[in-house]
Amino acid sequence: MTHRIETIALDTPSPGTTRQLMVHRFGRGEGPKAYIQAAIHAGETPALLVAHHLLALLENADVPGEVVLVPFANPVGLGQRVHGRHLGRYDLDSGVNFNRDLPDLSEAVDAAVGEGLGSDAPINVAIVREAMAEALAGLRMAREGSVLKAALLGLACDADIVLDLHCAQRALLHLFVDAGLWTQAAELHADLGCAVTLLESDTGSGTAFDHACTVVWRTLQARHPDKAIPDACLAATVELRGFSDVDEDVAATDAENILRFLRRKGVVAGDAGPLPEAVGEAYPLETVGFADAPATGIVTFRVALGDHVRRGDVVAEIVDPAAPSAAAARTPVTSPTDGLVYELADSRFLWAGQTVCHVAGREPLADQRANLLGD
Ligand SMILES: [Zn+2]
Repeated sequence: MTHRIETIALDTPSPGTTRQLMVHRFGRGEGPKAYIQAAIHAGETPALLVAHHLLALLENADVPGEVVLVPFANPVGLGQRVHGRHLGRYDLDSGVNFNRDLPDLSEAVDAAVGEGLGSDAPINVAIVREAMAEALAGLRMAREGSVLKAALLGLACDADIVLDLHCAQRALLHLFVDAGLWTQAAELHADLGCAVTLLESDTGSGTAFDHACTVVWRTLQARHPDKAIPDACLAATVELRGFSDVDEDVAATDAENILRFLRRKGVVAGDAGPLPEAVGEAYPLETVGFADAPATGIVTFRVALGDHVRRGDVVAEIVDPAAPSAAAARTPVTSPTDGLVYELADSRFLWAGQTVCHVAGREPLADQRANLLGD
């Protein structure tokens, strides 16, 4: 068993303060590498607790490959307390979501090595990974949030497997993965017992962490179809249910399921056993129905997580406290599609336009939003 702890100092702009990333490294480096980080959105506690349980499992595991575990990926966001409330999703300095606008290294990597790639896939993988590290080293960044994102991507960009642990508002366990990776991700989906996997094509959102890990391979494949360029990184965003789903037994089971997947992929030694039967299905992200609040007010739900709904079904009502009469106060919120309710709003007071309910469906939607990952 090898276990090393490293720290990466973040260049902080505040005089007299320091911040650092903590990095656990396990393994002998004789097999695949997995990179796992928790809570790039800082306050997503279920992810932090699963990482804690995973640490305990890895401390007692034989790791012929390599596991890099970052148990809290966002010390910048963890420090953002405003009037006693923690605000970890957006960088208070820039206003940018901590899981958007990760560096897209495609152009730099293609310019550096694209034409030099050949017909040997393993050699190409090594060349591209080295070029990704060089491209990251060449970035010029001043803001703390950008330094953090580049540091995290630097730990992940040569991994075969990347698991970015998050949670949603109130939600069933679900994954986001590049649509082209579904064949690889199906085992992860089954091992974790996911209710839903959302397959990303063009999300219309800024570069999220999982996309930053896969976009280089996608871009090179598209530009150099004659070269042997595999999908060298299985990167997934793992949504460990909702903010309040912080439970020792659940987190321990999630960590055991992640470890079983790492065994299945040969990162960790031991028998993974037969693949569990999948409990949920994969859906294209572009056919998810987002039921947005048509008015501002108190939200009362008519559905629960796991319910199947039809298009037009009332999923919630918005109660306007400023309505002139009780009869005029209620506005129904309807499902835009047939499908499975997998996420509901956490806040019980919503402003018009905020999302009340996410429905995993399969029908194309005429008025689908452009930004499929949301803000
Ligand atoms: Zn998140």
